[in-house]
Amino acid sequence: MPPSSAQPGRTATAATPRRRRGEGQWALGYREPLNKNEENKKNDDGLNVRDRIINIYSKRGFDSIDPADLRGRFRWFGLYTQRAPGIDGGKTAVLEPEELDDSYFMLRVRIDGGQLSAAQLRAIGEISRDHGRDTADITDRQNVQFHWIRVEDVPAIWEKLESVGLSTTEACGDTPRVIMGCPLAGVAEHEVIDPTPQIRQIYDEHIGSPLYSNLPRKFKTSLSGCSSHCVNHEINDIAFVGVRDGAGEAGYDLFVGGGLSTNPMFAQRLGAFVRPDQVSEVWAGVCSIFRDYGYRRLRTRARIKFLIKDWGAEKFRQVLEEEYLGYALQDGPAPELDPGLERDHVGVHRQNDGRFYVGFAPRVGRVSGTSLLRIAEIAEEHGSDRIRTTADQKLVILDVEEERIDSIRAALGAEDLQVEPSVFRRQTMACTGIEFCKLAIVETKARASTLIDELEKRLPDFGEPLTINLNGCPNSCARIQVADIGLKGQLVMNADGEQVEGYQIHLGGGMGMTRSFGKKIRGLKTTADDLPDYVERVLRRFQDQKKDGESFAS
Ligand code: SF4
Repeated sequence: MPPSSAQPGRTATAATPRRRRGEGQWALGYREPLNKNEENKKNDDGLNVRDRIINIYSKRGFDSIDPADLRGRFRWFGLYTQRAPGIDGGKTAVLEPEELDDSYFMLRVRIDGGQLSAAQLRAIGEISRDHGRDTADITDRQNVQFHWIRVEDVPAIWEKLESVGLSTTEACGDTPRVIMGCPLAGVAEHEVIDPTPQIRQIYDEHIGSPLYSNLPRKFKTSLSGCSSHCVNHEINDIAFVGVRDGAGEAGYDLFVGGGLSTNPMFAQRLGAFVRPDQVSEVWAGVCSIFRDYGYRRLRTRARIKFLIKDWGAEKFRQVLEEEYLGYALQDGPAPELDPGLERDHVGVHRQNDGRFYVGFAPRVGRVSGTSLLRIAEIAEEHGSDRIRTTADQKLVILDVEEERIDSIRAALGAEDLQVEPSVFRRQTMACTGIEFCKLAIVETKARASTLIDELEKRLPDFGEPLTINLNGCPNSCARIQVADIGLKGQLVMNADGEQVEGYQIHLGGGMGMTRSFGKKIRGLKTTADDLPDYVERVLRRFQDQKKDGESFAS
């Protein structure tokens, strides 16, 4: 633990010149809450709501819930109120949040590192089946999200999750969220370092700690140990990427300040080499800087990316080393990116121990409890106790012997879990959307599923890598700015001059070798009904005009 990171409200130093107008930074003395969210957090730590859920709300029911807990602190344990069913998308834009309240919740389970045993997946499947109307989503941050959860059922759900070592603690809220990790940790052929021990250490030492339960906003972490960089270090608040230093020692290159939403920014390299035994305290140092110096006045500026944008990487590293770690980090090399490696891990591929991993694609992350139970069974039937969630709403089963590959492929295929899906099934993602999310303006999952069906029919031979990401609102839960075709949900005019569901189009975004934010072309919008026609036109034009060796992303 860094020497002074545990003391919020420290005073400014020479390295931190005072901004003209305070933005709510604790370290500059702005301790009085500057908005409602900050006030709620000051009134009571979000972590304290757990006892009230168990002892009061689950016994007395939805109407007994204190509004400040309902709309605020419940998130500290992964609970969001769910959009009232049956509300029309067009109307919701003019309704107040209070009018949308209903007694059901979404509940997010954090799956740190995306790592699940068959028993853990079975517990998740049973919860979905028994308490969540047999519905669940694999999210693009490797979590599982339930829907239709009643507060009365939450203690039993927690008991079941905790019995297999899972939790919903800090799955949402202004907290350190799930720690993403490469699904192939420990088995990837080109791995520099297995980040699993560091993921566990961060979780054990810091998640659920009151030191980090009142951050300016969310704080997202990823660790990856191989050159496919599949957990999106570019767009996390803090990311550790496996590298070797000049002496050949394996460790991590440190990135800070990535994020999408309405002001997308790629994370900046600090140029520091972090040894495995330093990772947890460096994580704590960076998280503490965010807590102490992060901007709290406006929610729209309360992410660490704004701080590092103002400070620059050099100053950020200096503050980290001098004020929080008490030692200098070694300079280190940048990670290399292997352009030949796929990030999504779909398909059948060899592990470093000679066995195989099998990645497969549910439709835009939507699964049922029943199908999750079947996946756990299929994994065990094929000798595996290791299932992984990916950052692309997919699943992977590890440790399959070569002679069982045909059998597991067939068993998964029988559940419509395709191991060799079309490019459209494989690379289309959608956020929760209007079906359950209160912030949504339009439908996403069902639209994306229809889009996949249509494109598979209309362009059966299209084989280029192509990402299509759909969001239900300007937030970027499904990463629209880094997709080849990003679709931001909004109301648009149709040909008859009526307001209908549609999408603003962003084109040409990418990650990895083709890292860039998609271009938003003003006026380039489509109605939801015209979406398949629009995408088909774009792809046919690309096929007609592309030069040899050119991909959609290039
Ligand atoms: Fe909800 Fe918007 Fe996020 Fe989609 S992008 S899940 S609609 S907040």
